[in-house]
Amino acid sequence: MDISFSDKQKAYRAEVRNWLLANLPASWVQGAQWPRLSEDDDQAFLIDWERQLYAAGYSGVAWPEAYGGQGRSLIDDLIVNEEIGRLGAPESINTIGRELVAPIILSVGSEEQKRHYTPRILNIDDVWCQGFSEPNAGSDLASIKTRAVRAGDRWIINGQKIWTSYAHFATHCILLARTNLEASPYRGMSLFVVRMDSPGVDVRPIRHMNGLRHFNEVFFTDVEVSSEMLIGPLDGGWKVAVEVLGFERATTRLYRQARFLEELKALTEHAQAIGRLSDGLKSELGEIASELMILRYHNLRFTSRISGGAKIGDEASFLKLLWSHIHQKIARVGLELLGADFDDDSPIAERFRRIYFTSRGETVYAGSSQIQRNIIAERVLGLPRGGR
Ligand SMILES: Cc1cc2nc3c(=O)[nH]c(=O)nc-3n(C[C@H](O)[C@H](O)[C@H](O)COP(=O)(O)OP(=O)(O)OC[C@H]3O[C@@H](n4cnc5c(N)ncnc54)[C@H](O)[C@@H]3O)c2cc1C
Repeated sequence: MDISFSDKQKAYRAEVRNWLLANLPASWVQGAQWPRLSEDDDQAFLIDWERQLYAAGYSGVAWPEAYGGQGRSLIDDLIVNEEIGRLGAPESINTIGRELVAPIILSVGSEEQKRHYTPRILNIDDVWCQGFSEPNAGSDLASIKTRAVRAGDRWIINGQKIWTSYAHFATHCILLARTNLEASPYRGMSLFVVRMDSPGVDVRPIRHMNGLRHFNEVFFTDVEVSSEMLIGPLDGGWKVAVEVLGFERATTRLYRQARFLEELKALTEHAQAIGRLSDGLKSELGEIASELMILRYHNLRFTSRISGGAKIGDEASFLKLLWSHIHQKIARVGLELLGADFDDDSPIAERFRRIYFTSRGETVYAGSSQIQRNIIAERVLGLPRGGR
């Protein structure tokens, strides 16, 4: 394992930083507008920004060139992520496509799927959502009820998904459905691509507590998909879904730690400006800063291991648990510091209100903290399985 950066990597970091500084609209620098991702008026701007990023060679950094990527290393990908986070550049509008769907297609998809979908994801020709959770199947994902029934060379899908982020503007959904009622719950499900404009797809919005329209309920009534829309092996969807969740927990948004550090700096500067940088607050900020350093080293360790050919395993849960709880701490300190000003119109209040409300869901999605702890206890530490 090597977690130091070479001179070449340092030069690449400088190149990425300079490009971002030259091209990022000033209003986005340092996260001033983050995370207005899902509001309609931001979509055109975000799509345009991501296309610029792709044209400049800063997305799909570690994907093979044959599939639209840049063919560089995962460490370079991490560097780009860190620089994006440091400057508070917009989060991807296609985070599900880029961070979950493309990696899983590159891992288990057919050659045709790789060639078709991955460049389209990078160029934001297709925007994806993730149809896993259902009203009675969240933590217990193996209980999904959505069914796909074979009809000749097609599949007919019926069921309901919930909490489906970005479904209101997604063009495609990566959908987990039950394909075999005879098999055990873990062996009888499969992963499909569903076009969101297919007849029978009905998207109903749910507004977030942070005020944004972000996730949705999605109903599927006799939705037809062709056999080519199956991703990975038939009835082998559980393993594939677990791999998707591994990407979601470990490698998505590696820019987080860099962005969180900027948020912490903004809090510190604000506390100083209003004369409230007490010893108690300093020690709390210092503690969070050290946790962010730990997170960074875990990110580096993970990236290094995966670069060496290791699979993302159950240890991804460490990263998920760590970043989501650190972010909630930052949000809590922001809330306490702003006090009665938390609700006013100042940019700092607006920024920390968003961080506070957004961070609540971060210990829930991609598997709740309790589920991450169960995974760490049982599968990483080998402790006895708890009662369910
Ligand atoms: C912001 C946000 C975005 C999301 N986006 C998507 C998306 O795009 N696509 C998608 O498919 N899903 C999405 N989700 C759904 C998310 O994956 C689920 O909410 C999550 O898996 C928890 O499932 P649940 O809500 O059904 O809660 P439940 O599974 O009902 O859990 C309720 C509580 O019980 C605890 N619990 C459950 N089982 C255990 C256990 N065995 N041991 C200990 N405690 C347990 C949980 O930790 C939780 O505290 C999103 C959620 C959020 C908050």
